[in-house]
Amino acid sequence: MKVQKGFATPSYALARWQIHCTFAAMIRVHDFTFNPFEEKTYVLFDETREAVIIDPGCYDKEEQEELASFIYTEKLTVKLLLNTHGHIDHVLGNYFVKQRYGAPFLIHSVEVPVLRSVKSYAPNYGFPGYQEVLPDSLLAEGTPIKFGKSQLDVLFLPGHSPGHVGFFAPEQHLLIVGDVLFYRSIGRTDLPGGNADILLKSIHQKLFQLPDEVVVYPGHGPTTTLGEEKVSNPFCALPVE
Ligand SMILES: [Zn+2]
Ligand SMILES: [Zn+2]
Repeated sequence: MKVQKGFATPSYALARWQIHCTFAAMIRVHDFTFNPFEEKTYVLFDETREAVIIDPGCYDKEEQEELASFIYTEKLTVKLLLNTHGHIDHVLGNYFVKQRYGAPFLIHSVEVPVLRSVKSYAPNYGFPGYQEVLPDSLLAEGTPIKFGKSQLDVLFLPGHSPGHVGFFAPEQHLLIVGDVLFYRSIGRTDLPGGNADILLKSIHQKLFQLPDEVVVYPGHGPTTTLGEEKVSNPFCALPVE
């Protein structure tokens, strides 16, 4: 199922918002669901039309064209290619994006071995056409990610994979969280480098310290909010006091 977001704001509400927020950039989020893992690929952009592509999972021609035609139709300039982590479902489209747009590719330094292992198992997973892209530079917590008038903060969120990061826009309460936290679920920890205790620490000590209103855009499945997951997520809900 492919859900489009960010285009449902009624024009009157948008006009009112623009009057009050003349100087603040507004990040728009568009998502795609790609490859047999039903991975969520995100394009973030603001009014300058500069964009970042996060976790491109497009593999076949049709998926690649779907992403490219959105970029073309919206007249976006792709400034950065970002990965939350290096699992195959999140990196299948790295090569296409790099070839097409030439944007610098960034991933956390600890995640590089995870990324580099993909080419060895991709054929067994049914992706013989996978081509590796190596990072142009490396992320760490606190690295500012800038595009247009917007900025994202990098949060280090290990556990599902050892160098997993999230991308957070604090003013807009927007969080691209990869496979750390899902609607009523959490990331698996049985893959190489996974660790359940560390994952729960990332969720409780990092994510759940952020405001309840933060909208979570996960690597699979529907969006949710931190407030909802704090009370309703069976894997990590906080006890009711
Ligand atoms: Zn993953
Ligand atoms: Zn995934």
